[in-house]
Amino acid sequence: MSNCQLCGKREDERNTQEQMGYTICLSCDGLYSDEELQEKMEHKAHHNKYLFYTKYYNQLKGYKIVSYEMIEDDGALAPFPSFQLTHPTKEDIQIDVSMDEEGNGGGFLFISTKRGQSIG
Ligand SMILES: [Zn+2]
Repeated sequence: MSNCQLCGKREDERNTQEQMGYTICLSCDGLYSDEELQEKMEHKAHHNKYLFYTKYYNQLKGYKIVSYEMIEDDGALAPFPSFQLTHPTKEDIQIDVSMDEEGNGGGFLFISTKRGQSIG
C-alpha cells in the first residue's frame, strides 16, 4: 500500500502511477500535465510547511494590542519587544518577539501599511 501524493488516498501499488517522480493513484492519473502537477505539489508542500504557523498565528485574530514594553534578559542576545493583548471573550495574552524559536534573543517587527509603506 502507498498513498497518492496528490489526493492522499491509500492505494495498492498496482493501482498507482509515477508522474514527475510522484506516486499518484489512477483516479488522479491524467488530471494534470507534468507542469501543472509540479505546481500543485509545490503549492501543497508550501501549505504543509507552514501549516503549524498558520494555526499558531491565526490564534491572534481578534486580539487587540493594549501595551508594549521592552524586556531585558541577561542571557539573551537582544532585548525582547513585548506586547500585551486583550480579547473580548478570550484570556489576555502576551507576545514576545523572539529572533528564533529557542528564544535566544529579541527580534524586530517590520510594520507597514497595507500599501507597503513602512511606519516608523
Ligand atoms: Zn490520487
